[in-house]
Amino acid sequence: MEGALTARDRVGIQDFVLLDETTEAAFLSNLKKRFSKDLIYTYIGTLLVSVNPYKELDIYNKKQMEVYMGVNFFELPPHIYALADNAYQTMLTEYNNHFILISGESGAGKTEASKKILQYYAVTCPSTTLLNTVRDKMLMSNPVLEAFGNAKTLKNDNSSRFGKYMDIQFDSQGDAVGGHILNYLLEKSRVVHQNHGERNFHIFYQLVEGGEDDLLHELGLEKDAQHYNYLTQGECAIVSSINDRNDWKTVKNALQIINIDEINTNHLFGIVASVLHLGNVQFDSDSKGHALLNNNTELRWVSNLLGVDAQSLQEGLTYRKIEARTDQVLSPFTIDHAIYARDALAKAIYGQTFTWLVNRINESMENKDPSRKTVIGLLDIYGFEVFYVNSFEQFCINYCNEKLQQLFIQLTLKAEQEEYEAEDIEWEPVQFFNNKIICDLVEERHRGIISILDEECLRPGDATDLTFLERLEDKMGNHPHFLICQSKNAIVRECFATVDPDSRRRPETVATQFKSSLLKLTEILMAKEAWYIRCLKSNESKQPGQFDEALIRHQVKYLGLMEHLRVRRAGFAYRRKYDVFLKRYKPLCPATWPHWRGVPADGVEVLVQHLGYLPYEYKMGRTKIFIRHPRTLYATEDAYEK
Ligand code: ATP
Ligand code: MG
Repeated sequence: MEGALTARDRVGIQDFVLLDETTEAAFLSNLKKRFSKDLIYTYIGTLLVSVNPYKELDIYNKKQMEVYMGVNFFELPPHIYALADNAYQTMLTEYNNHFILISGESGAGKTEASKKILQYYAVTCPSTTLLNTVRDKMLMSNPVLEAFGNAKTLKNDNSSRFGKYMDIQFDSQGDAVGGHILNYLLEKSRVVHQNHGERNFHIFYQLVEGGEDDLLHELGLEKDAQHYNYLTQGECAIVSSINDRNDWKTVKNALQIINIDEINTNHLFGIVASVLHLGNVQFDSDSKGHALLNNNTELRWVSNLLGVDAQSLQEGLTYRKIEARTDQVLSPFTIDHAIYARDALAKAIYGQTFTWLVNRINESMENKDPSRKTVIGLLDIYGFEVFYVNSFEQFCINYCNEKLQQLFIQLTLKAEQEEYEAEDIEWEPVQFFNNKIICDLVEERHRGIISILDEECLRPGDATDLTFLERLEDKMGNHPHFLICQSKNAIVRECFATVDPDSRRRPETVATQFKSSLLKLTEILMAKEAWYIRCLKSNESKQPGQFDEALIRHQVKYLGLMEHLRVRRAGFAYRRKYDVFLKRYKPLCPATWPHWRGVPADGVEVLVQHLGYLPYEYKMGRTKIFIRHPRTLYATEDAYEK
């Protein structure tokens, strides 16, 4: 009998804190019920759980945005706009800083979520014509960074291969006045190697597929990805869900909007092309096993495009210079070493160019009047990845997630405790996990592993990113004609200007750099109020409507959703501001309907007395009512629906 069903039966509950029991089975069943109705969002308190629908839903448009603007969080069905709006409203009223942490595994929908939030602010925040330009730049930074930093992987056709933290800066009126991006650990190894079924970064295919004939001619490129070693290892240059030609146009337009002028745009594409040529540089071996260049054409293109001397480039790729006491000795490379040096150069050039792009984007979004501002930070961090063989980069990604998960537990507990204190409600300690144990474990682990890694990297002869870096510095620092910082390509010159040829300082390893950038990030986040979006991947085959229970159970587990739920329900599962609670339930009591004339807290007291709440079932805080168990509220909700 459809009519007898409550809303809870029909579409599941909107907030997991109201689940009857906090079992994984109940959690999954609610998620599944909602997913089957295209309700992809559910709350755990103020945390938003999102399940990737793998289809376009008609819930992201201006009309929907207007529905959620300025409305109390819990009054409308869960939506990413509600979370975006609530963070924004809180920032305006409390004049403090916020961040939204978006996590989930690869393909779960993190980047889409962050784009939807950015769009929400771009459309709903008050604006002046002048500020519109900042907005456009923020929006347009996405296609550019995705072109250079995203790639098709087995898990996601548009997988972000770098971590991104973006601050959106607002003035006291709530206008978006600036933005700033911090990028983390671009997966540079992808430039030279891709697994089967995966691609290099999108920009390469966009250029080759979409580039105008004149441009390709100038860059010495063929209009065919198959021609390039760096583009064909995955054997999937063409992807049905990706339109490289259209994306090329979008990216070119976006580059203009973020103020990259024509000269720099040409330099930029020159670098992209140089990487492709570099990948086609091949070596032969002479009778002594020394590497020789087998064809000069590609090398000439690289030297042209990068604006560096061809002879020194060739030497740099085939010899290593060893400093003797008074002399310099050139020690020839084997083929393996030469390939290694070639790939290292390609990775370094691409990596530095990515950083250069982020810097340019930051300049273009810079807040011209930073005197009074508050920020909302968006953290779109790479998801956990488990492969048969996990690379160093995957280690960093997983380590980063561990660290953020830890931060998340810390902040959730802290926020709960603070709320109880602020509301004068006695804090009941959470028994089921010891925060410090996890924290110590993470700390010890990262110290351990990273320091071991550091030591490993210092061992001579091993193939590590450090030795890549050293070799590169060797080459750039010591060869008289290959001081790349005198390159005629302005971007290359700028990127490598900081390399001090006289420096003998051992560079920091990538792991150590990553560790310190994560520490910095943790500091940035700890000083802000946290909001969370947990994205779940509904199935591995990217199909709409498929809810793979085992896959989702796994994600619920490692994202710590049950833990979060238990923390939120540890003392009082449900809490609402008095005015909000009264507004919703006042029809249930003659004394409060249609109007309660006194203060809302008193009205709520009268109301719950009337409903027969027992003293241990609820507590009255300073501004909110706290209800211990959802069952109590269910009865009230059911009465309300009748
Ligand atoms: P990665 O860690 O690999 O970068 P991700 O979590 O950022 O993954 P997205 O790129 O955001 O994943 O999403 C992957 C794909 O899933 C999108 O390209 C889109 O097709 C689909 N998708 C994600 N979120 C939504 C949504 N809210 N509505 C419709 N489709 C979505
Ligand atoms: Mg992404």
